[in-house]
Amino acid sequence: MISILGIPTDRHSSYLTGAAQAPPIIMREFNSDATNKFSENGIDLGQDNIWMDLGCLDLKDQDNEFEIIRDAIQSELKIGNYCISIGGDHSITFPIIDGYHKFFPKINILHFDAHPDLYENFKNNPYSHASPFARIMENKLTNSLTQLGIRTMNDHQEKQAKRYNVKVIKMDEFSSDLKFKFEEPVYISIDLDGIDPAFAPGVSHPEPGGFSTRDIIKIISNLDGEIVGADIVEYNPRRDINNITAITAAKLLKELMGQILR
Ligand code: MN
Ligand code: MN
Repeated sequence: MISILGIPTDRHSSYLTGAAQAPPIIMREFNSDATNKFSENGIDLGQDNIWMDLGCLDLKDQDNEFEIIRDAIQSELKIGNYCISIGGDHSITFPIIDGYHKFFPKINILHFDAHPDLYENFKNNPYSHASPFARIMENKLTNSLTQLGIRTMNDHQEKQAKRYNVKVIKMDEFSSDLKFKFEEPVYISIDLDGIDPAFAPGVSHPEPGGFSTRDIIKIISNLDGEIVGADIVEYNPRRDINNITAITAAKLLKELMGQILR
């Protein structure tokens, strides 16, 4: 069973708030009658008992947000469910992977983003949405980290990438014909700002020159390995136009589910 978990926080967003409002809007588009529930690989997500919407975590005025996130993930993994988390800003990927690591110590991460999110400490916040992968790597929570679509690399993060042996495929080296193979379980983290703002304008840090929606679907469908979890983060409804970014997030959710259940 797939558990869909809303994680409504933008506490660690460095520039704009708004991502905390994202999860119910993405789920509304996912359940919209504008489309059917078949993923492109032919899985009928309208069937009973293959996925469950857990709704949103209650994170209001909680100081121990990361603990709540990690515990929620672990209680799903404990009963054999795989989680797809709907953010929220990208800071949530650290506690999510912290939760996964106990059950999948050899987990690999495939990360789509305009940004490497490897800052040792961003604006005096080591838990910033610009830092989750620095925390994941220093705590050795993953077997490997592969980043796709990066187009904002700076000297500091280049050093961090080398220090932590991160495999970075920058946007100018990217092709949707690339194929990825993982012997051990794989987790997919999709920051929606990895997608070109022409396709997904509703993000806090739009960075032109990115993926098409199709690029991401193609990489995920060609992936050779067992997908055991995913997140879709950084949707900011305050910046969206005609809900297109929410619709794009819902489409990616559907395709991720289809691949997990394939
Ligand atoms: Mn980003
Ligand atoms: Mn990010």
